[in-house]
Amino acid sequence: MSMPQAGGRRRKILIPQPRSRFILVTCPNCGHRQVVFSHSTFPARCLSCGELLVKPTGGKAQILGKIERILA
Ligand SMILES: [Zn+2]
Repeated sequence: MSMPQAGGRRRKILIPQPRSRFILVTCPNCGHRQVVFSHSTFPARCLSCGELLVKPTGGKAQILGKIERILA
């Protein structure tokens, strides 16, 4: 198995500001990636295995999956 060479270090992901954003997260359980809403008022579950990825807290939702990328 050959891995592509990484051309430089990856940029660190910044903590999202307290605004609503769409976030690409990876499920910690199965590795499935999907987009969730940062201010979701309802729990978001992994579409593949059902693991809880976003937990609503009243304000900003708590992201339980691994944040890959802030989309907007
Ligand atoms: Zn999953």
